[in-house]
Amino acid sequence: MEIRRLKLSGFKSFVDATELRIEPGLTGIVGPNGCGKSNLLEAIRWVMGESSARSMRGGGMEDVIFAGTATRPRRDFAEVMLHASAPPGDITPAIEAGADGELEIVRRIERGAGSAYRANGRDVRAKDVALLFADAATGAHSPALVSQGKIAAVIAARPQERRAMLEEAAGIAGLHVRRKDAEQK
Ligand code: ATP
Ligand code: MG
Repeated sequence: MEIRRLKLSGFKSFVDATELRIEPGLTGIVGPNGCGKSNLLEAIRWVMGESSARSMRGGGMEDVIFAGTATRPRRDFAEVMLHASAPPGDITPAIEAGADGELEIVRRIERGAGSAYRANGRDVRAKDVALLFADAATGAHSPALVSQGKIAAVIAARPQERRAMLEEAAGIAGLHVRRKDAEQK
């Protein structure tokens, strides 16, 4: 699966609609302190189904909504759209790509109303989206998304923790999610 485009609106510091094209290969995000680099990475994790507000550096999930500044009022919702191209084998039963392998996932959160997800225009569950991105190569906890903090964490990790990181890199984490899902049925 390849991420092609990302669209944010009201997400953290990205109050105005912002669209980014992501080219194939390695992508680096550079800019001065506080310009929103980490927020962008968090937006990718978030639309992939991240459920931990703490890993979004917030106390609650609504903290991802633009909180307002001295000159601009806060927003009532945040939305992130991720556009990807995926080979047919990548798709879960609940989520179908278009005939051309196009996949558009949208997550939206409203104050007081929680999160909702859509996949190619259809309502889907958080779980379906998390499962779609459960594999190590694409997931919200993918080692392919390297944050400032994560580099330090790998270096400082104890053997047990480092093993978990390596398992994730090897794609075993995705299997755990699928097994849990299968056990619940
Ligand atoms: P650094 O280089 O220091 O790591 P960065 O480019 O990663 O910086 P971010 O941490 O992504 O920067 O962005 C921080 C900015 O985002 C801060 O100015 C912070 O006030 C703003 N911000 C975070 N959450 C919200 C929110 N909910 N509403 C408005 N602004 C927010
Ligand atoms: Mg940062």
